[in-house]
Amino acid sequence: MRPMASPDRVAAVLEPFVRRPERAAVVTDFDGTLAPIVTDPAAARPLAVVPDLLRRLAARFARVAVVSGRPAAFLLDHLGAGGVSLHGIYGLEAVDRDGRVVANADAASWAPVVADVAERGRLRAPAGVTVEPKGLSLTLHFRGSPSADDEARAWVEAEAARTGLVVHAGRRSYELRPPVPLDKGTVVEELGAGLDAVCFAGDDVGDLAAFDALDRLARRGACALRVGVRSAEAPDELLERADIVVEGPEGAVALLERLVV
Ligand SMILES: [Mg+2]
Repeated sequence: MRPMASPDRVAAVLEPFVRRPERAAVVTDFDGTLAPIVTDPAAARPLAVVPDLLRRLAARFARVAVVSGRPAAFLLDHLGAGGVSLHGIYGLEAVDRDGRVVANADAASWAPVVADVAERGRLRAPAGVTVEPKGLSLTLHFRGSPSADDEARAWVEAEAARTGLVVHAGRRSYELRPPVPLDKGTVVEELGAGLDAVCFAGDDVGDLAAFDALDRLARRGACALRVGVRSAEAPDELLERADIVVEGPEGAVALLERLVV
């Protein structure tokens, strides 16, 4: 298991961000990174200090953003705006400057298909599986019933074949999304464009796309910092690719706090 970073190592990786915050972006995932994972996804809440922390980061850094699989409206409800850019459904929607949720036009045309699959899921999903409709995507959770994995996978694959939606695996969940080429990586690449330093913190397989984006930004000369947030379920690949590993949302928040002291 990868050890926690030493204090010197932490200071070294944060130095480019602390030195020139006006040339740096701080981007983070939500669930498992700013908010503890809970059995009922609707009950997830950020750690209490997070909304104020994000506002303080936004006052200092060129760009501060949260990029999540959650609907943008959920992020807005629980984080507020305050200069932080909020991107929901893996970049398929975002909150604009006036606090309105704006959907990607290609993705928006799939909303009726998603709604139809969500309704079918509500009526016919396998036992132990919870369907979470999210507007432009839907998630099947089997956190409360791990043995339902195979049945949940078979169900989403059948729905994907029927509708053209695309299956993405998550932590004890499967997601069906429109076939639109956006993910956390495309968002991070856009947010980091033209800046000297970009960091992203995440805890799940969906965050690997953001690490890929940091690799691309690094090849173009940016300082890239990949933060892996460890939990019992964190994928090995994410932790292996991380420049620094922190322990749970508490560790992620403690690292972010160091950027504003
Ligand atoms: Mg997460």
